[in-house]
Amino acid sequence: MSWDPIGKTETQWASANLTDYEGARRKFTWEQAREYLSGLPGGQGLNIGYEAVDRHASGPRRDKVAIRFLGAGGAVTELTYAMLYQLTSRFANLLASLGVQPGERVFSLLGREPDLYVAALGTLRYQGVFSPLFAAFGPEPVRQRITAGDGVVLVTTPRLYEAKIAPIRHLLASLRHVLVTGQGKTPPGTSSLDDLMAAVADHFTVAPTDPQQMALLHFTSGTTGMPKGAVHVHEAVVAHNMTARLALDLHPDDIFWCTADPGWVTGMSYGIIAPLTLGVTIIADAGEFDARRWYQQLAEQRVTVWYTAPTALRMLMRHPPELAKEHDLSRLRFIASVGEPLNPEAVAWGQRTLGLAVHDNWWQTETGAIMISNFAGLEVRPGSMGRPLPGIDATILERGEDGRALIIDGQVRPVPSNVDGELALRPGFPSMFRGYLHEEQRYEKCFAGGWYLTGDLARCDEDGYFWFVGRADDVIKSAGHLIGPFEVESALMEHPAVAEAGVIGKPDPVAGEIVKAFVTLRTGNVPSDELRLDLLAFGRRRLGAVAPREIVFDQNLPHTRSGKVMRRLLKARDLGLPEGDLSTLESAHE
Ligand code: AMP
Repeated sequence: MSWDPIGKTETQWASANLTDYEGARRKFTWEQAREYLSGLPGGQGLNIGYEAVDRHASGPRRDKVAIRFLGAGGAVTELTYAMLYQLTSRFANLLASLGVQPGERVFSLLGREPDLYVAALGTLRYQGVFSPLFAAFGPEPVRQRITAGDGVVLVTTPRLYEAKIAPIRHLLASLRHVLVTGQGKTPPGTSSLDDLMAAVADHFTVAPTDPQQMALLHFTSGTTGMPKGAVHVHEAVVAHNMTARLALDLHPDDIFWCTADPGWVTGMSYGIIAPLTLGVTIIADAGEFDARRWYQQLAEQRVTVWYTAPTALRMLMRHPPELAKEHDLSRLRFIASVGEPLNPEAVAWGQRTLGLAVHDNWWQTETGAIMISNFAGLEVRPGSMGRPLPGIDATILERGEDGRALIIDGQVRPVPSNVDGELALRPGFPSMFRGYLHEEQRYEKCFAGGWYLTGDLARCDEDGYFWFVGRADDVIKSAGHLIGPFEVESALMEHPAVAEAGVIGKPDPVAGEIVKAFVTLRTGNVPSDELRLDLLAFGRRRLGAVAPREIVFDQNLPHTRSGKVMRRLLKARDLGLPEGDLSTLESAHE
């Protein structure tokens, strides 16, 4: 197998990653990127699970640690590639024994623990479709997603089951099996994952897999409507692998820590799939953010490549630099960040405190893999998301009054350098989503003039670097998590006192934005602190991590002529900006 898709040997590109950016773009082809993967034996297609597991388990890396789990209480569990093969084989055989058909959806509601990784990779090897849910979601987002995704199997813990699934189980019509982890008592209506796993064989041969077959379903949010399920296919692994090498500078001997939760797309594409296809050792940390522990972990685990998010970096930046200096971080050689704007200050802080610049990159659920990046071999341009990966064409399109790309007779127009517009990508790369499940029209509306419209506003400088400006729509980014205001408004409106709600992202120095709700009460209800606290608790119970953090009463919510709440106006008011001045509003996003 060749390790050289762009005209250099592995060691050559390793020491000078993409220093010849233009040359790499010219020489690059997806066919060559595909050569980094093995494919199923006998040319029987391409399967993400096979590339991540089988291929290493049957070769020289079989006894190498694939995943090192750091449990919340300090317990460390290691799975080698060979062990991962056995466990995921059991999971695949278990799906077969339950009568699950390839193509059916398997959901997880789990923290960063071994069962999640085993379920994901076992499902992919089996050719089921895996859909991970963020364990901090409340019952409502969980119900929405399992229902919209026709989930037939759910893997969760007994505790999460009792808290979030049992109360809504009767509403989950498609769900045939709930498998609970651990050795304790299984709640009624569930089966023990361990018992079922023990009853099946630890060997499973991946069947021929069409690269265009659906593999992953990732839910994401838009301005309107409920979350949409972005469909990704097995071929996406070509982009996962290529971008991990080129944007994250990942090599087979690296120790890699991606801090994103696999309940979101970054945690799946880069917290599981991409690094395993390269045969690296990944660190999976069950714990939440803690500055001292994080530094300790970087040092003790000898992490070499670290992929994190601006919110986490901003939280670290609040601590004195001495805290970092107490730890031996000499192994760390590359830091990347994604998910929200990375302040130039964070890049400089990285340089000062860790001796490494932070490399920002950009992508979204729909693109499945990194699209725009600052590269290891080139100087970071602080504040910029970087340049498109080889094989990726990006542009900025002129926008209309609604902030989105201006479409005239189905055509769009690119703008000159340094002019703001909607960021658009040429579709056709392997990790591009293939649809929103059951929502053809929503999918079609994402394209115009041969471009995929990302919903982000950006500009491109004369050197081809892209700069994030803001969102063209009303979605909220809080601590790197994309939250749809409609989903939050709908949940609040189920409270008997609420007539209407408008939800916005309020700028926050650490999380980027927090969810803030403006609520109109039904006649007969009087605003009070008690009611506000009741609404906050109601939101938390239903929505979990995506619940509003602030609620204010507002009996005069602004409306469009068609009767929709004008969130942008709410936002402008909240910021004390001239009402409706969108350009001012957008610069406030930056
Ligand atoms: P998600 O689909 O949840 O991964 O969120 C994708 C969105 O996060 C993008 O459309 C952007 O709005 C935002 N985003 C991702 N990466 C960056 C970045 N490097 N800078 C600014 N915003 C980003």
